[in-house]
Parts: sequence; structure tokens; C-alpha cells
Amino acid sequence: MTEYTKKVYLDYAASTPLCKESREAMENVMQTVYANPSAVHALGRAANVCIEQARSTVADCLHCGRENIIFTSGATEAINLTINNICADYSIKTLISSPLEHSAVIHTLQHISKTKNIPLLNVEHDKYGNIDNEHLTNLLAENSASLVVLMHGNNETGQLTDIEAIGQMCRQYNALFFCDMVQTIGKYELNLPQMNVDFAVGTAHKFYGPKGTGILYLSKKVSPLLLGGAQERNIRAGTENIYGIVGTAAALNAQMSNVNSQLQHIQHIKKYCIEKLLQNLPQIIFVGNCQNGGMEHIINFYLPDTEMDILSMQLDMAGIALSSGSACSSGTERISHVINALNINSKTLRLSFGKQTSTDDIDFFIQNLILFI
Ligand code: PLP
Repeated sequence: MTEYTKKVYLDYAASTPLCKESREAMENVMQTVYANPSAVHALGRAANVCIEQARSTVADCLHCGRENIIFTSGATEAINLTINNICADYSIKTLISSPLEHSAVIHTLQHISKTKNIPLLNVEHDKYGNIDNEHLTNLLAENSASLVVLMHGNNETGQLTDIEAIGQMCRQYNALFFCDMVQTIGKYELNLPQMNVDFAVGTAHKFYGPKGTGILYLSKKVSPLLLGGAQERNIRAGTENIYGIVGTAAALNAQMSNVNSQLQHIQHIKKYCIEKLLQNLPQIIFVGNCQNGGMEHIINFYLPDTEMDILSMQLDMAGIALSSGSACSSGTERISHVINALNINSKTLRLSFGKQTSTDDIDFFIQNLILFI
């Protein structure tokens, strides 16, 4: 019985536990700040100061200006509303993206393409999921007034895209570039203005902050996402989620204060896990190029002739939390759309690591994995 009470969390790409810094910052605001941040009296102004301090902290962490940062309810909201408005504001004639994007992006683009009659073109990729830059250049050369929507780090395979290079190509062809940076903001030292992205999104719950708060980076204007008030620089009306905003800033700040040592730890865990998997299961097939690169926190794999969804249920029953498909859609998809787009005809398992993951967790996972196959 005892081994079943142990819990091993290997699903950090889906969400992370709240860090102490974020929790304390939110508790403090919850206990002391209650006025409406838009109220003109002193208590309202004090609430507004909390939000503006949080904005400065986030801007400093991402090396951009405060005016570039808008707080939203998460990445999905920012993706939906911003892309929609960019298309209208900039008279976009072509959408260029990839079937490897998160479903929030794919569904938004498909909807816009259908309702606004804007062609949606997909950039080709190789078997690991690397974007074909030559194909992207051709698409940009053939289509004017394009919006390119490509992610930085893939949430399923861990593949990293050279977004500086993509942003450079977009500039060359006068295209706009929207980047989903949900899996990389808070995990790497990023200087957004130097990355050639026009618009980017992040979300606090992926970097040990609260769920339901996101960051939208705007280097160009967009029309209001929500109407009805002057909050968030007239871009997102509605009384601000002050606790979430303060918690987001505290979490990002805490992350960036030791981002490199954390990265080293997670790199070590990934290497250890890959070695153990190869030693014990030589038949393993990795998805993407995790053995030679990609983000440190993700490994995706399958075992030939093995029912991967049954395996994931057995592991769950043994106390191990991991993902098959993406968390937002698991249970609703047969094979994840990303795995499908990579022409892999098997369900896969995604392991994702965080700062609390230990080699003991990996050993426990491997012991159980061997037991069940
Ligand atoms: N984009 C990527 C790459 C993600 O991994 C996720 C969450 O899983 C999202 C977007 C959606 O983020 P949110 O949960 O803030 O809506």
C-alpha cells in the first residue's frame, strides 16, 4: 500500500505548484488591499500602485518597457482576442502558422480564417517538428500583409524554435509576428525587444504563479481586447485581477532570480531520465529531438506495441502524474494533433520537469514503468 501513497509530479508543462514568493505576495495584497484600483481616493490609488509595480517587475524581467505589458486572464484569452484584433487593425491578408501550435492558436486561426475569409497557410516542418525556414521565407515572399503565428517552445515535444530568425524574416517581408511563449517565459532569460517578436504571450501558472493570469507583450498597438473601461491602458477593460497580477510578478521575479541554476538542475534531470529510459527500454522512441536539444523540461516518447494510454492510467494509479496529449485536450483527442502532425501513429507520454523534480522521482517513475510493460 505504501508505495501507492507516494506522488510524483511529472506534468510541469501543464501547470506548476504555486511558489512561496507568489503566495506571500498575494496573501499580503488580499489582506491589505481591497479598494478598486480605478478609484481616485488614496486606497484606490494604493491598489493601482500594486498593479503598476507588478507591471514594472514583469517588464524588467522581460527587458521591455512597462507600456509593452498587459495583464490578461491567461494565454488563451490573449491569443484569441489579440490575434483577432491584429487581423482587423493591420488588414491582414494571410495567416501563416503551423499544425504544431497549441490548440488555442489553431482554433483561433481557423475561426478567423473561416469568418473573415483570410487564407491560413501552414509552414512545413521536419520529423522533429523544426520549422522549415526556407518554406516560411517562400510563403512570406509570395504573400503580402501576413501575420505569422509560431510558438517559441512546443508544449508537447519540447522543440525550441529560433524565433529571432523568424522575426527577422518577418521584418524583411513586412509581416507581423505573434509568438506563443507560454513554455519559455519564466524558464529562460529572455530579452523580448531583441527577439524580433511584435506580440507575445505568457501565463503565470507555467512558472509557479497563480492560474488564470497571463501576460501579453505588445510592441505595436492593438484595439481594445475588452471594452467598457480604461483599465490596462484602455486595452482590457474590467476591474483588474489584482491578486493574480501581483502573484504573476512575484513568481516571474522569483524565477528570474535563479533561472540559470534552475535550468542546470532541470537539464540534469532530463539527461538522467533519458539515460535511464534508454538503459531500461532500448526500444523507446523519442518524439522531437530531446536527446540533442529542445527545452530542458520536456521529454515525449512512446514504446512500440504498447498501449500508451493504458500505461498512463497505470502510472497514474501508481501515483505518477504525467500527460498524454496536451493537458487542455487530454481525454478528448485520440492522438494529439501535434503527434498526428509529426506522422506518429501512436499515443505518446509527455514527462515534464520542474524545480522540485528529483532523481528519486525519476527512479520511481522508471521502476513503475518497467513494472507495467
Ligand atoms: N500555449 C501553450 C504553448 C500552452 O502550453 C498553454 C497551456 O497549456 C496555452 C497556450 C494556454 O495557456 P492558458 O492556460 O494560460 O490559457
